Amino acid sequence: MGDKLILRDLVKQFGAVTAVDHINLSIAPGKLFSFLGPSGCGKTTTLRMIAGLETPDGGEIVVDGAVLSDKKHVTLPEKRNMGMMFQSYAVWPHMTVFDNVAYGLKLKKINRSDMQKKVNETLDLVGLSQYAERFPTQLSGGQQQRVALARALANEPAILLLDEPLCNLDAKLRENMRFEIRNLQQRLGITAVYVTHSQDEALAVSDEIVIMRDGKILQQGAPESIYANPNSSFVADFIGLINQLDAQVVSVEQSKTLVKLGNGQTLIAAKDDKQWKVGDHCKLLIRPENLMIDAWDQSKTYNSLDAQVERVSFTGSIVNYFLLFDGLDVSYRMQATPPVRFAQGQRMTCKFTPESCILTRD
Ligand code: ATP
Repeated sequence: MGDKLILRDLVKQFGAVTAVDHINLSIAPGKLFSFLGPSGCGKTTTLRMIAGLETPDGGEIVVDGAVLSDKKHVTLPEKRNMGMMFQSYAVWPHMTVFDNVAYGLKLKKINRSDMQKKVNETLDLVGLSQYAERFPTQLSGGQQQRVALARALANEPAILLLDEPLCNLDAKLRENMRFEIRNLQQRLGITAVYVTHSQDEALAVSDEIVIMRDGKILQQGAPESIYANPNSSFVADFIGLINQLDAQVVSVEQSKTLVKLGNGQTLIAAKDDKQWKVGDHCKLLIRPENLMIDAWDQSKTYNSLDAQVERVSFTGSIVNYFLLFDGLDVSYRMQATPPVRFAQGQRMTCKFTPESCILTRD
């Protein structure tokens, strides 16, 4: 089966600002892709171009093989068969839940009984059947968000577009709703594009994550793969917590690369495909959960760093230790499971495998 949605060399300029800078992307049918990146990186502009609300200055948007947007021609949003859900609930306060969901179907002028059936089915899908006659002001934030979702789904869109759909909800509700959206999207097999600046949300709901900065795509991949193999310190930092150590390559061997830190210590990183040369400056990245304080396996090779505990923070399921490695004056973080085993001021040895070290050029 061909790709459902293709962005080809897409560009959008606002005066001197290039909001979207030649991006290329293919989304397979039934997949959920998240656009993740800092404020102003071009996520919303990309989504608005997909929706037909902005005209690209270059490139194309193709759905099911048909060009919907290019520089000369933009298919109207209502002719695109896309459902949209935005951060503000955007439900109409003067209409009942039923009428909110029916709105798009009424525009399509389908007959009354089909329309009623479809609205009821959709309300059922999002668990709002018993609220059909209420007005949005009589609903909680989460319920209003479900109305917005039902409205986006009622027309059976080919593509669902979600722009920070949960950012107005409190943390617990946000987590529930993200699973509901993901469940529905998978059950209906609908292709979806999800814009968020929350890494947790992107990791939890996506088939693939697209990391953007300054209008460009920096990296694209499945959540686990992008988390384990970020291609830059920016991506690593944006998706999860990361420790960064400045280093220089001192030896390139068949299965490993040796790097030297500012304190003169040499560490081993497993071989990657980045063609390192002796003398290259790099960053060695290591996730806090990959620094180990015990359960070392005697048969394995580890890197080892001695540290002084600067601060300890217990957060229930995790203990965070903020560490000063000897000879390096930056604070690093490690995460371990409880109980708390080290106190502020104590010394510890951290070990970590060459495989858990990521070398990047920036
Ligand atoms: P946020 O997470 O804050 O919503 P975003 O990644 O969605 O950010 P966009 O809204 O796509 O970013 O904006 C990308 C860039 O384009 C920003 O520099 C923004 O200021 C600029 N921009 C967006 N819309 C317009 C507009 N209508 N006119 C001028 N500049 C705009």
